[in-house]
Amino acid sequence: MGRLIRTRGLPATRFASQYRLNSGRAACSQLRTEETLSDGEGASSSGDGHSRFEVAIQKQGGLLKGILGYGNPMPVRGSRSSYSGVGQPRLQIEQARSFSAEANGEEQREVMEYDVVIVGGGPAGLGAAIRLKQLCQEKGRELSVCVVEKAPEVGAHILSGNVYEPRALTELFPDWKDQDAPIGVPVTDDKFWFLFEKRAVPLPSPFNNQGNYVISLSQLVRWLGAKAEELGVEVYPGFAASEVLYENNRVVGIATNDMGIAKDGSKKSNFQRGMELKGRLTLFGEGCRGSLSETIIKKYQLREQAQALHQTYALGIKEVWEIEESKHRPGYVLHTVGWPLDYKTYGGSFLYHMDNRQVAIGLVVALDYKNPYLSPYEEYQRFKQHPSIRPTLEGGKVIQYGARTLNEGGFQSIPKTAFPGGALLGDSAGFLNVPKIKGSHTALKSGMLAAEAAFQALGESEQPSMEAYWAALQQSWVWQELRSVRNIRPV
Ligand SMILES: Cc1cc2nc3c(=O)[nH]c(=O)nc-3n(C[C@H](O)[C@H](O)[C@H](O)COP(=O)(O)OP(=O)(O)OC[C@H]3O[C@@H](n4cnc5c(N)ncnc54)[C@H](O)[C@@H]3O)c2cc1C
Repeated sequence: MGRLIRTRGLPATRFASQYRLNSGRAACSQLRTEETLSDGEGASSSGDGHSRFEVAIQKQGGLLKGILGYGNPMPVRGSRSSYSGVGQPRLQIEQARSFSAEANGEEQREVMEYDVVIVGGGPAGLGAAIRLKQLCQEKGRELSVCVVEKAPEVGAHILSGNVYEPRALTELFPDWKDQDAPIGVPVTDDKFWFLFEKRAVPLPSPFNNQGNYVISLSQLVRWLGAKAEELGVEVYPGFAASEVLYENNRVVGIATNDMGIAKDGSKKSNFQRGMELKGRLTLFGEGCRGSLSETIIKKYQLREQAQALHQTYALGIKEVWEIEESKHRPGYVLHTVGWPLDYKTYGGSFLYHMDNRQVAIGLVVALDYKNPYLSPYEEYQRFKQHPSIRPTLEGGKVIQYGARTLNEGGFQSIPKTAFPGGALLGDSAGFLNVPKIKGSHTALKSGMLAAEAAFQALGESEQPSMEAYWAALQQSWVWQELRSVRNIRPV
């Protein structure tokens, strides 16, 4: 568990009034956060006389900041467990270091330390966090793990509507069916059409979605987030990791961004310095083209090290519609190629019937299109007017929409996933199976593999290495699966 042993923060009552929390919410914060505090040294009272309640409130205040948009009230220093394992003294007070910001006369950033810091609360990041804590339980060891997620809530930046392959989830939670996982609609029908402007020609489906489910990935990710918290992971939504921290050419954590900066760059009255979250290992599960992951790939030349090619991308536009009951066929899955895209443009559409009269519909357009006037958004609008698509949507309404990039390079573009001090997970490394348009199962599995390697390495060295993850990945079904489709759309 994360151990918060010192604070220089606000007394609880002042905090509550400053951040406009009502007492009920403050009490909830206390209850929820106290569960994550250890009973060991320093947990009951901080070194400077503040109570455990205050520490808990401050920490939760950080969480609320993201949700409520308030400044960061989290001036705490953490500690981390020793790599030497079970029952060893774990607490270690470290002085916050001097940073260049301080030298410039700016406020110093506060520091929290963990064994593992995970960036991104998607399937990959949460899979890693959960597996680490499961291993802690199995082996009787204590590791502090935190996840920072830039969305105001876990799952809020995940686009709903997904055909889900449960293989990795079954490995993580063999009894997920008994644990109320939000996976209830098996694929019942799997169609594949070639579209001309006025008609659709059915083709044999290459997808083989038997045994898969039509789900809301955002709900599944929320469920994973709750599971992670139950196991003792500290999950912080509302925090974007904006900077990688290095020491001696090794990644030692991340910093969150400063808050309350005006458009002209000046500090507003609610200015708050970001925080430094330091980890003996830092895992990056930021999704496709993660900003920090990309800097790391460049810095350590991870593509060159794996003799990988560059990455390529597509744009996926997706909407969730609520449609008329009579048209709803839970478990029905449709993919199309052809119109409205021309033969020089790679892409296709999908339409998945979820539960509650909802369908997820979208168009994926590879971003190497040749026609400079092509607009993926306009093509998507045209697609919905197709005579074989429009009738499903008529009488319905859009309830969610969004767009995201996807990795399209596939197997040939996978960089080395281990670097000094950490690793890349999921779409940050490019584990999307392009012809299937599926990456949530490979993302989850990669997180689990990284966790297993991290758990082992943290017990062996003060400066653990993630090389074993890179090796395990190449022996895993993720590698086999991506290798088997490597020539579908090579870079
Ligand atoms: C249109 C579309 C349709 C798809 N359909 C399917 C499908 O049917 N089946 C399937 O299996 N897969 C599908 N995928 C792919 C699937 O969504 C991804 O492969 C999967 O979500 C990858 O998981 P991840 O954890 O690596 O990244 P993500 O799911 O992208 O999660 C990354 C998380 O990290 C957070 N984050 C990013 N940067 C930071 C930062 N700096 N600080 C803090 N937080 C950060 C993000 O907010 C996000 O929550 C689809 C993708 C798209 C775009």
